[in-house]
Amino acid sequence: MGETAGRETMGFQTEVRQLLQLMIHSLYSNKEIFLRELISNASDAADKLRFEALASPDLIRDDPDLKVKISFDKVAGTLSVSDNGIGMSRQELIENLGTIARSGTAEFLQRMTGDEQKDAKLIGQFGVGFYSAFIVADRVEVLSRKAGLNPDDAVRWESDGQGEFTIESAVLADRGTTVILYLKDTERDFQESFRLEALIRKYSDHIAFPVLLTVPSADGVTENTVNSATALWTRPRSDVSDDEYKEFYKHLSHDFADPLTWSHNKVEGKREYASLLFIPGTAPYDLWNRDAPKGLKLYVQRVFIMDDAEQFLPLYLRFVKGVIDSSDFPLNVSRELLQQNPDLDAMRGALTRRVIDMLTKLSAEESDSYTKFWQEFGQTIKEGVVEDKQNSAKLMKLLRFATTNSDSASQTQTLNDYISRMAEGQDKIYYIVGETYETAKSSPHLEQLRAKGIEVLLLHDRIDPWMVDHLTDYDGKAFQDVGRGKLVLPDSEGDITQDAFNDANKPLLKKIRKALKDRVETVNVSQRLVDSPACVVTSDQDLSPQLRRMLEASGQALPATKPILEINIDHPLVARLSVESDDDRFGELSRIVLDHALLAEGAQLDNPADYVRRMNRYLLDTENGNH
Ligand code: ADP
Repeated sequence: MGETAGRETMGFQTEVRQLLQLMIHSLYSNKEIFLRELISNASDAADKLRFEALASPDLIRDDPDLKVKISFDKVAGTLSVSDNGIGMSRQELIENLGTIARSGTAEFLQRMTGDEQKDAKLIGQFGVGFYSAFIVADRVEVLSRKAGLNPDDAVRWESDGQGEFTIESAVLADRGTTVILYLKDTERDFQESFRLEALIRKYSDHIAFPVLLTVPSADGVTENTVNSATALWTRPRSDVSDDEYKEFYKHLSHDFADPLTWSHNKVEGKREYASLLFIPGTAPYDLWNRDAPKGLKLYVQRVFIMDDAEQFLPLYLRFVKGVIDSSDFPLNVSRELLQQNPDLDAMRGALTRRVIDMLTKLSAEESDSYTKFWQEFGQTIKEGVVEDKQNSAKLMKLLRFATTNSDSASQTQTLNDYISRMAEGQDKIYYIVGETYETAKSSPHLEQLRAKGIEVLLLHDRIDPWMVDHLTDYDGKAFQDVGRGKLVLPDSEGDITQDAFNDANKPLLKKIRKALKDRVETVNVSQRLVDSPACVVTSDQDLSPQLRRMLEASGQALPATKPILEINIDHPLVARLSVESDDDRFGELSRIVLDHALLAEGAQLDNPADYVRRMNRYLLDTENGNH
């Protein structure tokens, strides 16, 4: 080393600068995680080299034992993490340690609140990796020589984490990467070997490569292997402690928090593979970004093959983190070859069932954890109910709802809970969909059901209109939208009553139909209402208004349809309509009744200004004693 040829100073990408600042403040109470992150990177680098060496054995021949070394120098005030893995070229160093490649980073950073505790959580799920070195160091140096390059093609990177880094050529005898931390004065206790040893054991015991700690001794230095250096998933379940599983999850996912649960299995027989699957405690910030990386980490006979192998689980289970290690795939398996592998479907089926079983168990045995899971990932399970026909019965048991039985928007009730409380003679599962919990809860459609003590599921997630559009029944009971078609309640006679009521009020209905003919399909006497004068309903064949709004918002053009207006024949406003002899005023009041019904259901009026004018006129008219 020592050369300064080609020295360049460059600025960090804006996002990196922001991230560095936020991280140093918000992760300070967690500062020791930098060691996990650096060892994790070193182990990934060893994994990558072993993979490359499958095709080019020369890359590894002169130094075949992959390992990670930790050492410190009390005089210089440094701590170093060094590996003989894949290494980085000049260009790779610039890209990897100067920018953040992940999409949505800027958007993620915008969500930072300035509240340190909240931000620490957010940053934790983002995964900060290498940059965490700056929590404890005021200067970081990275020396790297990429596998296959000559000693004098090495590079040296350096930064104080403020805004710029420098990069220059270097000469390195050994392949791989060394990260040297110039520790802040306050962080010198990271140079105590007992502390380092404890941290390595805590955070990196599961790393498949030996992690060596170099410590001064009587005759110079000694190197001790600190970790057990076997891939965790190859060990028998009974030998692995909960803490080891948790640490392995953090290594794998870069999450700071514990997973909610996990499932570790070995399949033997026709197909042989080990799988270790984790359910995270918080949704990643990019759960809804379709291009975000997802999938399991694939190993073949303990050799790392690829990150984000998305072929092993359906899209709706994209939140699952884990490892799959198969003995059956060839070592040169690529994404394309994987896709064509005849065993893939069966494996995907088995892994999917494993995740569903794990969630079912969680819901039965640890309801607090399941509630947390549901808050974070419930909407993906709703995707699954529709998309995964094979497992939809099991997935429907995992659904949780808010209902009219409680005053809370939190979704805690199962379909079985609902069924166990059904009224005598009730054979349907009633639900209502609203834009928000409040609109659903206060919809006029619920009035009669409430009066009769019939429970209704209150659906208000973004995905709900789409989901319920695909649901037919559960446990032999049909789902019924209370805002749709004719509502037949357990102790009423449906059609017969409605027809009888309609007949008894023929002239009034006819008059309203005429007044509103451009805007409604028809007008009926309602059996849904108690307190409201009217409501709008959708016919059985039409799209629900919520689904319609959702599709329209996504840019689809749909043919216009008209709602059905239902009036509450016992309501004083309707009584007033029936005695109104002035045609203009009758028309005016009919339109107001319709607009109010639309507003109550969460719809936007086509012409709000017109509505306001009409309403004002009507109010003034009332003041003048015309009603
Ligand atoms: P992440 O590990 O989440 O990708 P990092 O910020 O920790 O994020 O690292 C960024 C990239 O830098 C890594 O993806 C890897 O390509 C590269 N890198 C980091 N450390 C090493 C290392 N020791 N050897 C080789 N490449 C590394």
